[in-house]
This record gives sequence, C-alpha cells and structure tokens, in this order.
Amino acid sequence: MILDGKALAERRLEILREQIDESGLEPALATVIAGDDPASRMYVRMKHQACDKVHIQSTGITLPGTATTADICQAVRRLNADPDIDGILVQLPLPPQAETDAVVDAVSPEKDVDGFHPASLGLLASGRPRFSPCTPAGIMTLLSAYKVPVAGRHAVVVGRSIEVGRPLALLLLLADATVTVCHSKTPDLAAHTRDADILVSAAGRAGLITASMVKPGAAVIDVGTNHVNGKLCGDVDYSSVAKTAGWITPVPGGVGPMTIATLMENTYLSARLRSCNRF
Ligand code: NAP
Repeated sequence: MILDGKALAERRLEILREQIDESGLEPALATVIAGDDPASRMYVRMKHQACDKVHIQSTGITLPGTATTADICQAVRRLNADPDIDGILVQLPLPPQAETDAVVDAVSPEKDVDGFHPASLGLLASGRPRFSPCTPAGIMTLLSAYKVPVAGRHAVVVGRSIEVGRPLALLLLLADATVTVCHSKTPDLAAHTRDADILVSAAGRAGLITASMVKPGAAVIDVGTNHVNGKLCGDVDYSSVAKTAGWITPVPGGVGPMTIATLMENTYLSARLRSCNRF
C-alpha cells in the first residue's frame, strides 16, 4: 500500500482550517531566512502558502547571505517579543558563518514550532512532547492514519540527526516500538534493516535502501530528498522495494507534505497554548 502523504496532508489541512475558523484565534507564523539558497526559498514559500490555506497569518524576515549569528538572533528575539507571533521558523541550513546552535537556542521555547530547541527535544526525551519536530511527527501521523502497527514492532531508523532520526526514534519509542538507530558508522546496515517491521531512511543517500535490505511486508518510510540528474528521489530504490514492502512512501508525495501540515498543526497548538497561558 502506498502511504499517500500528499492526500493525507491535504485532508488534515482542511480539518485544521475549520478548527482555526471555529476557534476565533488568529494564529501567526513568522519565518526567518538568511541568504538566497533556491531550495530554502522554495521551502519557505511553500510554508507561507500552507499558512494561507489554513488561515494562519504569516510573515517573513529575509536577511542577506552575509548575516551574522548576532543579526539572525536579533531578528529571532524581535519575534520572541512580538505578542502577535505564535510560531517562529528559522529555515535551515544557515549560511556557513552563522552558528546554527546559537540561533536555534535563541528561539523562545514557547514559539518553537519546529521543535529543534533543546527544551522541546528535552521534553520529548522526557516522554512529554510539546512541539515535536515536524518531519518525525508527520511520519507518526502517517503511520497512525494508515493503521501501520507500531507497538511491539521493531523500528529501524537510518540517520540520527536532531531534525529527523533522533526525535523520530524517541517518538517511535513513545509509541512502544522497539527501536534501533543506525548511522554512517553502523557496520552491516543491511543486517539491521532486514529485521525491521518499520524501516525509516533519513540518510540523504539516493539508492541506499535496496529490496534485499527490506523484510517482506515491512513499512518503508523514505525521508530522503536527493537530486539525481535533476530529478527528486528518496533514499529508497522505490521500484524494487515496492514489490517487497507492505507499505511504502513515494518521493515526492510522502513525508514532505506531512512535514508542512505538521508545522501548521504545531503553530495552531502554540496559539491555543498561548491563548490560555499554558506555558
Ligand atoms: P543529516 O543531518 O545529513 O543526517 C543524515 C544522517 O544519516 C546522519 O545521521 C548520518 O550518519 C546518516 N547516514 C548518512 N549516510 C549513511 C549511510 N550510508 N548509512 C547509514 N547512515 C548514514 O540529514 P537530515 O537533516 O537528517 O536529513 C536526511 C534526509 O532527509 C536528507 O535527504 C534531507 O533532505 C531529508 N529531509 C526531508 C524532509 C522532508 O520533509 N521530506 C525533512 C527533513 C529532511 P552520521 O550521523 O554518522 O553522519
């Protein structure tokens, strides 16, 4: 079965728009981008378009590629102090001269709708998530919507980044999976992936996961976004793995749309929490 993230995200955005309209709240998301990387600009544009769809106000700060850590932190602090802003998203990667950790740390944990602040990740590690990072949370929503069994199953996550692999492992653990995390220093990756009931690849390596590495009937989630010969593809060799897997996400149209839908849901959550002083 194809895990259709595009269709599911559209349905969730429709429901969210109704919830926002009925709530009487006016959630607002602010984006911060430094430099003119075309991919980053496109991602920010897509996030603003999603805001329009669900009636979330959105505003953007664009800084030059020469912006320093201090410049970016200053923009973030201005948004922290703005009572009309519920969520702040700093588009990564930042230009090389800027310190990503310092900028991520500058975002108020109350407005950390991307879920990358150590306070958000700490809450997640403590088993009481508030804002979970959008890609991992979107994957959990996808698994749940398609009724892919998670509790008691062996989930293997390839990748251990703060944005994807690590928080996803924590979310899968919270959902009672038995979790293995693999990375570039893992010897014999296939020995682990072949034992996975749920296999998530978030390595950013085209063609990393082939059919012989997948257990028949497994759920295969492809997070990778790679460009090969001008074409977008994931980490999974889709055509061969689709014959072995029980469930599989396409690229594009799988995890990506769920990431954006979750960002919208996190922004509405922030607006609700802020409206009743729940921080
Ligand atoms: P990242 O920070 O580069 O992390 C990649 C992870 O994969 C690292 O932990 C790395 O191990 C591991 N890895 C790399 N090569 C490997 C190999 N051959 N075998 C096993 N592990 C390997 O990337 P990321 O931010 O997590 O993103 C991963 C991919 O997902 C990228 O393609 C990115 O574009 C995509 N992505 C998509 C979405 C979406 O919404 N669709 C969102 C976020 C990211 P080490 O830690 O040992 O280096």
